[in-house]
Amino acid sequence: MTVIDQSAATAANTPSAVRYDVAIDLESCTGCGLCEAFCPVDVFEMQSGLPVAVQPDLCWGCETCAGQCPTTSIRVNCREGAEPFVDRPKANPLPAEKVGLYREWSRTLKEVLGLRWSPVAISLIPAGDPLPDVPVPEERLRYCQSLMAARRGRSIMMPANRHACPDGTAILGLTELPAKLASGELYILFHKLHDIEAAQRMVLERPCLEPRTIDATVVTPLENAATEPQVIAVVAQPEQAMWLLMSSSYYSGHRHELNASGYNAQCVETTLLPYTTGKLNVSFGCYGCRASSDISDDMMFIGIPVDQMPTVISGLRELGSRAIPQSRNKIYLPPM
Ligand code: SF4
Ligand code: SF4
Repeated sequence: MTVIDQSAATAANTPSAVRYDVAIDLESCTGCGLCEAFCPVDVFEMQSGLPVAVQPDLCWGCETCAGQCPTTSIRVNCREGAEPFVDRPKANPLPAEKVGLYREWSRTLKEVLGLRWSPVAISLIPAGDPLPDVPVPEERLRYCQSLMAARRGRSIMMPANRHACPDGTAILGLTELPAKLASGELYILFHKLHDIEAAQRMVLERPCLEPRTIDATVVTPLENAATEPQVIAVVAQPEQAMWLLMSSSYYSGHRHELNASGYNAQCVETTLLPYTTGKLNVSFGCYGCRASSDISDDMMFIGIPVDQMPTVISGLRELGSRAIPQSRNKIYLPPM
């Protein structure tokens, strides 16, 4: 294995105290150029069909290049300074009454709706805030993959260097959006949209947090929440999603203005829209999350701002006492 340490140049322009080695195994590299395309700070340049780290000192260790490389040919290692977050103070554990509340919400959602999996507590940790005591995974995951793992019981905290999807990582405020994603160019490259105008509109119409305003995403089963969530995500069948919408409207009768596109399902539609608007939203999933997780075709997603949860849980209990069992018993089905 030929591993070239391409970061031996001067470190004068390094944007942070932490510096990284970018090593490329040129024997396994296929020259696909994804590392060059996805690096948010243009560390790489393709030369004679192979990537060269021409600006290694700009690297800030996001590991987007390593996450995108189809042949796992890139290693990014901390060279100088501390690993991010090692010395950060830990957040206090949640008070017992909050732990009890979230367990009760989870139990109600599961029992009344008949959910197969746990609802997921989502926390976006603002830059500089204490971090909760939640494990950082060894592997890099896409944000949607972390949500799907949390619904099965895993608790996961991911700083930028554990996120594998540059789109979601930037949208959620952990990194800058790579130029080729911001311009729409890569969506055309991957045949996801018809032309550059459509790609740019898709990018412009979706919310996106300011770069580096969020230090980590935290996802846990709701019953095991380790920090205050901002959004609760539920993976549900359409009928279960319908009852959640009705629960939210039970006391007000309002209709929902839902915002879905099939692009950026988990980061935008399930998380960021409820987070930024304070309104419940639904998502039918997206190309990325359906291609990279075990989510089945008959499932969809609902993101509920945590402030709405008392209303949703109370409404759901009311509906569960009569309307839900009646509907599920098909009481208006005519005799065959
Ligand atoms: S770790 Fe991030 S900043 Fe560094 S070379 Fe890879 S993609 Fe670029
Ligand atoms: S993404 Fe990996 S395989 Fe593709 S050019 Fe970069 S190092 Fe080589």
